[in-house]
This record gives sequence, structure tokens and C-alpha cells, in this order.
Amino acid sequence: MKHYDLIVIGAGPAGGGVAAPMAEAGKRVVMFEHNGVGGVCPLRGCNPKKALLSAPEAVHAATHLKNKGVRGNISADWKEMARFKDSFVEPVPEKAAAHYRDLGIELIETTATLTGPNTVEADGETYTAENICICTGCIPHELDIPGTGFLLDSDDFLDLKELPRNLVFIGGGFIAMEFAHIAARCGSSVTMLLRGDRALRDFDKQLVEELVDASRSEGITIHFNAPITSVEQRGPAYAVMNKGEDPEIIADAVINCSGRVPAIGHLNLEAANVRLGKNGIAVNEKMQSVSNANIYAIGDVADTPYGLTPTAVLEARAAVAAMQGDDSAAADYTGIPSACYSMPPLARVGMLESEAREQGYDIRIAELDLADSFSWKRLGETHGRSRVIVDKKREIVLGAHIMGHHAEEIANLFALAIRHRIPVKELKETPWTYPTSGYYIQYMV
Ligand SMILES: Cc1cc2nc3c(=O)[nH]c(=O)nc-3n(C[C@H](O)[C@H](O)[C@H](O)COP(=O)(O)OP(=O)(O)OC[C@H]3O[C@@H](n4cnc5c(N)ncnc54)[C@H](O)[C@@H]3O)c2cc1C
Repeated sequence: MKHYDLIVIGAGPAGGGVAAPMAEAGKRVVMFEHNGVGGVCPLRGCNPKKALLSAPEAVHAATHLKNKGVRGNISADWKEMARFKDSFVEPVPEKAAAHYRDLGIELIETTATLTGPNTVEADGETYTAENICICTGCIPHELDIPGTGFLLDSDDFLDLKELPRNLVFIGGGFIAMEFAHIAARCGSSVTMLLRGDRALRDFDKQLVEELVDASRSEGITIHFNAPITSVEQRGPAYAVMNKGEDPEIIADAVINCSGRVPAIGHLNLEAANVRLGKNGIAVNEKMQSVSNANIYAIGDVADTPYGLTPTAVLEARAAVAAMQGDDSAAADYTGIPSACYSMPPLARVGMLESEAREQGYDIRIAELDLADSFSWKRLGETHGRSRVIVDKKREIVLGAHIMGHHAEEIANLFALAIRHRIPVKELKETPWTYPTSGYYIQYMV
């Protein structure tokens, strides 16, 4: 039996975010990882996706400047894109492992399972620790329908060696939307099948509707109220049966982006008396399991408000502070930015209008038509809008929603404004660089 101060299960952004500072503080730390050191973000999520986006973004920009100075047909080459993406992904596991080992962390590349309130088993060896931090993330949700074996998931999409000509994406979350936009700009015929009547439920409803229009005008077919019922093989292709207006769609590949679920399959949570909440392991504000205070859970696997890399890191900081005895440790989720990297992108920071109303704020909503503003018009963009939720009483921003070129960068500025409660007056009076997208913040509020 081996004893440590801290056992970390999962070496993604959450696991690394807790293991590194604890090791730096002189604690004996062991970290387990069974599918590539670095986790989803750099290997199967944010980074490979964003690397694949670069060429489609260039195609999008050039297409919108046709007859405005750009000549000729520009196109994206999937094989080159894939090689470019791999150049970022492939070095990660080795580099990350070396970094953790340099910090003195014992890194064991295998599956860890809980066997008691303070114990973990891996490859027949038992490990004990004062604290265990569960950082196992999420995995793609599997659909329970006939033919589910024919479906690919987000990992498979990012690893495609060739891009099929006809693609169906199941789901209406940010992953489905981003992949649909990438594939469409690469020349594939793309259909999105959504179970309900809304896409991107975590984003501003009106801006999502505008993004759906923009996506359709880029050639993406979107069917709402079209839950998939089965998939059948038809020669080299697949027939996708669904309850929507086109009940049998033929596609070369069907990508299931219907959601992600906490990766708890191997954990044996009951052995450690760790309880689940609605969306993962139930934790208090210190990120401790509500049923076993020695065990922490952070990142995507925890039942916390966001499933993003920056919030995994934020939660890691709170957990580290709590383990080091800080009684006031807590993750502050004020003004968290997130984006859907469609073309144009859609971003959200802080509260939705519905959340601000539910919480009883007296609000005003400032709207700006970005498609009619110089920084977007000069790019030939046809869709763009911002909706900013302002607390009338204090004249501070509660939530900002932006759709259009640079939305994600404008969201970063709003994140600063919301987290630090910068008054609207200051945002209006700041001399922003002209002519930039950020310059329009003064008109967005
Ligand atoms: C396609 C895609 C695109 C995304 N894009 C963005 C984006 O643009 N921006 C953003 O902020 N977020 C994005 N995300 C989400 C982001 O990747 C996650 O929020 C982030 O990776 C969460 O970090 P984590 O450490 O909690 O979990 P993960 O990164 O999932 O890491 C968990 C690790 O634990 C390991 N593990 C699981 N069980 C065990 C076990 N029993 N034993 C040993 N190891 C185990 C897993 O192999 C994994 O490596 C995206 C996700 C996907 C899938």
C-alpha cells in the first residue's frame, strides 16, 4: 500500500490544475490518467477543434469579401487541416507528462478505481491519501437507438482522415454547431438534427435564432423537433430515421453530438460514499463531495454550473485553497465567458436575460445591430447583434451576448467588466482602439 497527501484521478485541465500547485507546495501527489495526459481540451476538445477551424474561418472571410476585393475560389483541404491540427495535438501527452513529473508528481497512466473513502486501486496496487480529487471529466453520451453502433462521436469527427461529403450531426449544442460550420465551409453537405425546438440552450435565445438564420444561409440544413429514431446501413452510406420534416436522411457519416455525461463508469463511487447530483458529482462550494469531505470533485465531472476549461481551472484553484485550509475557498462563477465558434461566432458572458429576471433584477437590455456597424460591414458580414443586460439600479452589466465576428474577444472584455463590476459609464468613457470590434462596446451597453 502506498500513501500520499493527494490522489488525483484524471490528468486534464482540472487534474493538472490541482496536482501542480499541490506538488509545488511540497505535497506528495499521485495522478492517474488512462487516455492521454492533458485530457479532453488539448487532445479531443478545444484545441484540435480550434486548429481545424483556422482554414474554414479563412474560407468564410474570403467568401464574404467576394466582389469586395477578393477574387477566385478559395477552399479548405481537410487532409492538410488534419495534419495542422495533429501538429498541436500529438506533442501534448509527452510534454504534459514531463511537466508533471518535473514537478515531482507521480504520474501513473492507467485506470483508477475507488475502493474506500480514502483509497484507490489501480493495476492491483492500493493507494491511500488524505484527499482524493476526482477530475475524470465527461465522455460522449451514447444514444439508445437501433443502429447506434453506426454513429461516430466528437472524438471520431476530430480524427477523421477524410471528410465525408454528406454529414448528419445529431444535437444542437455548441459542439454540433461548430462541427457543422467546419464541415460546411469544407464543402460538405451538412444536416443538423435537433431533438427539440431550440439550439444552443445556454446562449441568448434571440441571438441563437439569428445564428440559425446565418447557418442556414451558409447552406447548413437544420431540422428542429427531429429526434433520431434509428440508423440503418444502406450500402456504403447510412439512413438516418427521425421524427422531423425529412424523416429519412441519407448520409456518409452520422456524428452523435447529443451531449456529454460525467466519466464515472470506472470510479465505483459508492465504495467511497460519493453521491451524484443532477449533472455529476454533488459538491459544496469548496468542491468537496457533499457526502465525503475528504473527496473533492472538479471540472466537467462535478455538478457545477459550467463544463469549460477555464471553469475547471477556477474550480481547481478553489479546491487547492480549501485543501490548504482556506475556509473562504469557493469558485466565483460571476461573468464566466463562453463561446460557440460558429461562423459568425456566438458568445455569452454572465447572465441570460431569463436568469436576471428570475433573480429579481430590474434590468434594461441594450441592443446593437452589429451587421450594420462598420467593423462588421467592412468584412461583408451579414449577421451580427449584441444584447447586453444591464442592472438598472447600479448601472453595471449582468450579462453580455454577442453574435458576430470577434464575439469571443468582445466577450473577454465584458468578462472583465462583469467580474470587476465596472460601471457602464466607465465602459462608455474608455477610449477604445478605433476602428476595432471592441470599440463598439461603448455602444453595446
Ligand atoms: C469537442 C469539444 C470541444 C470543446 N471546446 C471547448 C472550448 O472551446 N472551450 C472550453 O472552454 N471548453 C471546451 N470543451 C470542454 C473542455 O474540453 C472541458 O471542459 C475540459 O476538458 C474539462 O476538463 P476536465 O479536466 O474536467 O476533464 P477532461 O479534460 O475530460 O479530463 C479528464 C481526464 O480524466 C481521465 N480519466 C477519466 N476517468 C479516469 C479513471 N478512472 N482513471 C484515470 N483517468 C481517468 C480521462 O481520460 C481524461 O483525460 C470542449 C469539449 C469537447 C468535447
